[in-house]
Amino acid sequence: MPNTRGYKDKSAGRGGEDCCSFCGAKRSDVPILFQGVDGANICSNCVERAHEMLAESKAAMAGRRGDKGPKFKMEELLKPQQIKAFLDQYVIGQDDAKRYMSVAVYNHYKRLLSRAGNDGKAGAKAEGGTDDVEIDKSNIVLVGPTGTGKTLMARTIARVLNVPFTIVDATVLTEAGYVGEDVESILTRLLQVADYDVEVAERGIVFIDEIDKIARKSDNPSITRDVSGEGVQQALLKILEGTVVNVPPQGGRKHPDQKFIQVNTKDILFICGGAFDGIEKKIAQRLNTRAIGYGVQSTSAVDRNNLMKYIMPQDLKSFGLIPELVGRLPVLTYMQPLTKQALRSILTEPRNAIVKQYERLFAMDGVQLHFDDEVLDYIVDKADEYKLGARGLRSICEAIMIDAMYDVPSSGAARFDVTLPYAKKKIEGSNFLELKRVG
Ligand code: ADP
Repeated sequence: MPNTRGYKDKSAGRGGEDCCSFCGAKRSDVPILFQGVDGANICSNCVERAHEMLAESKAAMAGRRGDKGPKFKMEELLKPQQIKAFLDQYVIGQDDAKRYMSVAVYNHYKRLLSRAGNDGKAGAKAEGGTDDVEIDKSNIVLVGPTGTGKTLMARTIARVLNVPFTIVDATVLTEAGYVGEDVESILTRLLQVADYDVEVAERGIVFIDEIDKIARKSDNPSITRDVSGEGVQQALLKILEGTVVNVPPQGGRKHPDQKFIQVNTKDILFICGGAFDGIEKKIAQRLNTRAIGYGVQSTSAVDRNNLMKYIMPQDLKSFGLIPELVGRLPVLTYMQPLTKQALRSILTEPRNAIVKQYERLFAMDGVQLHFDDEVLDYIVDKADEYKLGARGLRSICEAIMIDAMYDVPSSGAARFDVTLPYAKKKIEGSNFLELKRVG
């Protein structure tokens, strides 16, 4: 290919043809070959790569600036009851999970303070504790059916703490070298959310969703290599525990000449969520086995309708999580399936409840929107009947409201009432629920 910029190359490479002094590519193989002094050349591919590396290293430098150690003080930490009160504003029910999470998060940030004190670095000295006691990490695992608020809970926790938060799906992770995302990519996203401020990212929260999907498929892991299951669990171990990870700043596959940002995960809080479908059976089995053991409560005291509340770490092992991973997730709590009453509350009570959002949208057109109570009951009934859960509430509302949202802004009306006949007409008139049934 001719030199489009008209640079005159003095040097000749292998075979008499000019070539890039960096990658060795011949002039004919690259779009442009730039000529430097003393016969040095650089091709446009290398220029582009150098530009990328420069951007990455700038990001890394930016992240490394500033003092080490937590920027908050013990007295500024929200107490568990305050954290729960904040969660109550957004998440309906799930009291047990809220209490566990609030305590775990409180202890996590106390741990940060305590270590900063012990290290003699910046930040508050541990209060009321002896200096040689190291507090363990309190990564959390949330077990419960899909759509019960696991992600919402983790997101709300991050919001109250004002730390960077990211959600990753365990199902896309694979062992390094296989097709899929390397486990390190989890941290790429956290870095991006933290605007490449490494210290901020190092105190963030990562929510790993669908952790149950990387459970070991069989009890004998050696039959075939399980790259997306046990291999990923192994890869997660160190990250969860705390290690320095070389993170590719732009994500994607690692390549040898890429500049990495080092992120220490010891202060990152990991919250794992999963539905663990069928784990009740494992819990029941364990409870039954225990019942015939020595010195145990009788099973008659067991609430068979809510086996989830008896969940123990060994149930996660029976389900297929490797013991080492279970060990690194010491806080285990569960989410209740949502009752109709909870669904009803979700419609109106959270700070950004669905109904409040519609009211706000209409108010911006100067229209006062009102939902009759029986409409709300109807929406809940349909969500329950079609097993759409909390996620379905939104789509049912949307099907009811779409025509009104189209017409009302041009109508000049000052008020709009959503009545039961109106809602039924919109739902039954559309094929919304039929589609859901087919889906
Ligand atoms: P999960 O992570 O358990 O699958 P999500 O947290 O993603 O569920 O919940 C989906 C949506 O349903 C949320 O965005 C929220 O609007 C609603 N939702 C679910 N559970 C609750 C809850 N307990 N309180 C309030 N809203 C909820």
